Amino acid sequence: MAARDGRASVNRAMADGRATSPELGDRDGPRDECGVFGLYAPGHEVSRLSYFALYALQHRGQESAGIAAADRGGQIITRRELGLVNQVFSENDLRTLAGELAIGHVRYSTTGSNAWENSQPVQRSEGTNGSRREVALAHNGNLINAVELHDELLERGVTFSSTSDSEIIAALIATHPAELVEDAIAEVLPRLHGAFSTVVMTKDRVVAFRDPHGLRPLSLGVLKPLEDDPDSRVRYCVASESCAFDIIGARFLRDVEPGEVVTLGEEGLQSRMVAPGARRAFCVFEYIYFARPDSRINDRVLQVARGRMGEILWREAPVEADLVIAVPDSGNPAARGLARAAGLPQDDGFVKNRYVARTFIAPGQELRKHGLRLKFNPLPDVIAGQRLIVVDDSIVRGNTTRQIVQMLRDAGAAEIHLRISAPPIKHPCHYGIDMSTREEMIAHGRTTAEVAAELGCDSLHYLSLDGVYEAVGSTRETHCDACFTGDYPLAGSDGAAGKYSLEEGNSPLPLVGAQP
Ligand code: SF4
Repeated sequence: MAARDGRASVNRAMADGRATSPELGDRDGPRDECGVFGLYAPGHEVSRLSYFALYALQHRGQESAGIAAADRGGQIITRRELGLVNQVFSENDLRTLAGELAIGHVRYSTTGSNAWENSQPVQRSEGTNGSRREVALAHNGNLINAVELHDELLERGVTFSSTSDSEIIAALIATHPAELVEDAIAEVLPRLHGAFSTVVMTKDRVVAFRDPHGLRPLSLGVLKPLEDDPDSRVRYCVASESCAFDIIGARFLRDVEPGEVVTLGEEGLQSRMVAPGARRAFCVFEYIYFARPDSRINDRVLQVARGRMGEILWREAPVEADLVIAVPDSGNPAARGLARAAGLPQDDGFVKNRYVARTFIAPGQELRKHGLRLKFNPLPDVIAGQRLIVVDDSIVRGNTTRQIVQMLRDAGAAEIHLRISAPPIKHPCHYGIDMSTREEMIAHGRTTAEVAAELGCDSLHYLSLDGVYEAVGSTRETHCDACFTGDYPLAGSDGAAGKYSLEEGNSPLPLVGAQP
């Protein structure tokens, strides 16, 4: 019981935001969305493979984690909880989740509160055509027609146990009369508007599908046959990012196509294109910030693309300087690229406490004034008297950047030239990223010179949008860049409902803490 109580208090700390406060958590940048994983692999330890895949996807969501597993034809068992992957699952949990197929999820809330009810995988069991359909579902993205679909389902008498749009997708699929789950998905998919990279599990297969615009990533991988089983067959897995395959010894095969439905099951891999031909709108911010640098998306390894962004930053805005430093870790690849292009030395200007996000003790009044020092400690011996180029990937509200500039000044920097490997963020995201409101964004309604004055730096340059596309070797026509430009690629996005739109009074769910 003691362990359970301890876990509950940790989860409360996560749930009430202490663990993501500016002192303890990550920067005040955009919040990553979610990560999904799924595999069909009889003979393999599916829950353990799912655990480590989620561990690799942890950067995409730190509020909750969950795994659903099943034996072919048996029961679906789900374990989900508020907290980080390594806090949520014990060895015993993984043993209980034994099976031949599994899906998993890590969450940062984009529709619905950070409450246990909204953690995933969502599990639903509905009667259809005289039989029951049981599904577990994990979703990355955001539906822009969630309220409309929710109202329709309520009218049909469907009840919900959460306020996330993911349960709407699960309910639509579980209540559909089609015999095959793939047929149900093929009918439901065109009714969903917005971003959805989704994995669904029944008792005998895993089905993954991606929205017709391909807003969020979804990759397909192949597991090696088991060495100690000569009859073992090639098995497949899906994940938000290919870094999840590396950690479990799987090989990246290809991206799931926008509008495609893939089935992982006894027959191996099957695919059908359900919604072809829509305007592609992959999130350009995945290349800049969200995805891990070792992931491969649209045939690009992001570490390389981000280094190229740094090179182009230098070409666009060279400046007399002595030293290049990164805001760790997000600014590292672009700083390396910029230093390479400039022929300038690069060094660590800060030491980062890598464990700070796992501290659940609030800093209190006395320590609060030291703010970001709990996370970044500047190195005066490196910085003092130097004309610095400081590289970071993005600025949203600017609170953290302002503190970083002040810390560098206090450490004796002679000049501070900020270089940001993204354009100014001026508009909210309706496709699964929590970005603050327009009014909170420092670049909204301000010129670059005004933002530089607000931050207290000597100069500021944001990478141009053309520079971003040059770095990733692609064009605007196939991407979404709405948070920079305000050009939302999906009709109806401006009227999209907010994060708490499915909650009574549109305010967060009351916190319920950990569940047994
Ligand atoms: Fe990505 Fe920005 Fe588009 Fe959202 S608005 S999908 S963060 S590019």
